[in-house]
Amino acid sequence: MIKRRKTKTVKVGSVKLGSSSSIVTQSMTKVPTVDVGRCVRQIKRLVDAGSGLVRVAVPSRADTAAFAKIVQKVDVPLIADIHFSPDRAIEAIEAGAAKIRLNPGNIKKRASILRIIDAAKMHKTAIRIGVNEASIRDLKKADVPPNKRVSLMLKEMKSYVRLFEGRGFEQLVLSAKSRDVIRTIEINRSISEVFDYPIHIGLTHAGLPEDAEVPSAIVLGSLLADGIGDTIRVSVAGDPVVEIEIAKRILGGLGLCERAEVELVVCPTCGRAQIDVVKLARRIKKALRDIDRPLQVAVMGCIVNGPGEAADADLAVCAAKNKGYIYRRGQKIATVPESEIVPSLLKELQKL
Ligand code: SF4
Repeated sequence: MIKRRKTKTVKVGSVKLGSSSSIVTQSMTKVPTVDVGRCVRQIKRLVDAGSGLVRVAVPSRADTAAFAKIVQKVDVPLIADIHFSPDRAIEAIEAGAAKIRLNPGNIKKRASILRIIDAAKMHKTAIRIGVNEASIRDLKKADVPPNKRVSLMLKEMKSYVRLFEGRGFEQLVLSAKSRDVIRTIEINRSISEVFDYPIHIGLTHAGLPEDAEVPSAIVLGSLLADGIGDTIRVSVAGDPVVEIEIAKRILGGLGLCERAEVELVVCPTCGRAQIDVVKLARRIKKALRDIDRPLQVAVMGCIVNGPGEAADADLAVCAAKNKGYIYRRGQKIATVPESEIVPSLLKELQKL
């Protein structure tokens, strides 16, 4: 069982972030914010997929105006993504952002940051301080070797937190991202040792979905297993719903969220397989796709290792030549011809 690191609780609209609440998955819209209809539709798809928070980019005045309309049309708390412009930050706060994501490194004047803090305080808007390796000021000045970058990111985070706390603002969420797997893990470990604010974790610019899943799982899995991370975002180039699906798989794999779907366990197959395991598993997966119950179904290619390996599954099929043995929680309950395996599993699932 994973023990979460203790943090303060930060309210982001109706969602609480911190160790006393569940880990929240989030994603970001990827359509023009000014296209209110498309943006709202994408937010609703994300919420249906399980996104607890949604971030929206507001690069222009027209975007913050659209953001104000979008806030009225969705139930999920929205985060406004700010870069460079204090005016956009304040407009988004006044438009109803539950949180803004701010990289103080790209807001030039200290007075502008203080203005944003005051507006957030007045509107009870949370702020995520997002430090990115690529925007670290000292990194731009000199060629800093990779092993020094984590300490520079931490130094920058400390200076920002001091600035916010000095202004009496503690509704903070912290994040530090890099494109590098190891540095992302290291900086988040360092931040978690120094601060007790909720931490947003993710690997930035991870790539296309097929390339992003493994590095994201390494980063998020390592940190979450250490109890670090209160809200997570998987970044992939593509449909944001895929980000939520990957995030849920990572959380589910660590037992950090309840599965609302059937988990299919499939043996890797080997020379002992008595059946086309992959084909059978694909048929079973298709047949189970609308079942939203946290059950485990195992598909095993033989009865040599199959029954033992599948003993914990709610239902299992272990294949023999042209037939399948059906098991319910480790007990053999039927022997059926190959053509009857899928219907038999479905029938047994109804009884569970
Ligand atoms: S269950 Fe049987 S077929 Fe599948 S990998 Fe194990 S030994 Fe091989």
